[in-house]
Amino acid sequence: MNNNEILLLKLGEVVLKGLNRKAFEDKLMNNVRRRIRRFGDFRVLVRQSTIYVEPQNDQCDMESAFAACCQVFGVAAVARAVPCEKTVEAIVETAVAYLSDDFAAARSFKVESKRADKLFPMTSIQLSQAVGGELAERFPHVTVDVHNPDLTVYVEIREKYAYVHAPSVPGAGGLPVGMGGTAVSLLSGGLDSPVSSWMMARRGVQLEMVHFVSPPYTSQQALDKVLELARELTAYCGRMVVHVIPFTKIQEEIRKNCPEEYFTLIMRRFMMRISEAVAKRAGAGALVTGESLGQVASQTMLALGTTEDVTTLPVLRPLIGMDKVEIIRMARQIGTYDTSILPYEDCCTVFTPRHPCTRPKVEDVREAEAALDVDALVAEALAGDQWVRVKPTDEPRI
Ligand code: ATP
Ligand code: MG
Repeated sequence: MNNNEILLLKLGEVVLKGLNRKAFEDKLMNNVRRRIRRFGDFRVLVRQSTIYVEPQNDQCDMESAFAACCQVFGVAAVARAVPCEKTVEAIVETAVAYLSDDFAAARSFKVESKRADKLFPMTSIQLSQAVGGELAERFPHVTVDVHNPDLTVYVEIREKYAYVHAPSVPGAGGLPVGMGGTAVSLLSGGLDSPVSSWMMARRGVQLEMVHFVSPPYTSQQALDKVLELARELTAYCGRMVVHVIPFTKIQEEIRKNCPEEYFTLIMRRFMMRISEAVAKRAGAGALVTGESLGQVASQTMLALGTTEDVTTLPVLRPLIGMDKVEIIRMARQIGTYDTSILPYEDCCTVFTPRHPCTRPKVEDVREAEAALDVDALVAEALAGDQWVRVKPTDEPRI
């Protein structure tokens, strides 16, 4: 019988989107399909703000599909449900067997019923009362409380079966990836940028990643670490492209020709220019960084203004007002923390000025930069773009 167990996904904010709702539902169903395909043959359909995920045979890996659905943006909550015959007796027996642990832990409960099958001979209220009355007899230690119960037993009557399920677990929330346009996210190996990427993806933004490498100053391990972070994010975002851009020459030119106090700022301006060019090619409408106000010298308000001076695209910084402890908590939650804290050097740490300027004037930085052939350096870096397609099924890199 439990071979027929299905998953019910409650839509999140998607339901608020009025006329766009169908587009949101379609996008979300597609994202769900793609993310569970490798766990078996599932049918995915939507009814009344709920997506039904139905295994088509007993080869389906329901545990993995359940876990994957909990990470799809746009899903507010996920429940597993068990089908049974459409009779009060069968529903009660199923609830007793399936939810006995939940009943053992509860002091009060209620039954909530929904009828997709309008031919079913009882109203929702009648059905809830009948099932609730029986369950109250079977579990004498629990009382019915329709206002504030410890446990809610959900019953749904559909075409073929009735379904019984317990409370759902929270989903990833947000909006389906792809509904919010595309952005290019600057992904380093640190703690911040995986979290900022995740936050924008949760708002429905499809991401393309850019990562700057400076061999021989940065190692293959440092790159593998970033590709592993990207792989970890695919659990939420689906497959994505990581542009790996050579940055050594730019850093060496800056070191040779520019005042030390501006090293980091000029370097970050190059990152913005190159990312903007990648964004134009990808049809992306914004850049995303992991910057947080005041975290380091290059993230003071004036420094951020100096960095952003070279791009006309909006620079999205979802961590701007967050404390490091909050960012770390999120990194742990989304599963990128352990990889982020691996100690390989990033290109930012290679040529760090001893006394970075924290109150830069844009004009001064522009002037300092004039010693370089900016366009040629940008073009050369772009020509060296080696992109990698990262998939959820890839082997861990480290
Ligand atoms: P993170 O934890 O994300 O590394 P951070 O606090 O170390 O951030 P910086 O190193 O100053 O801060 O970088 C600020 C932002 O610039 C990063 O969050 C990221 O978006 C981008 N960035 C930095 N280094 C790189 C890189 N090598 N490749 C791509 N983006 C980078
Ligand atoms: Mg960093």
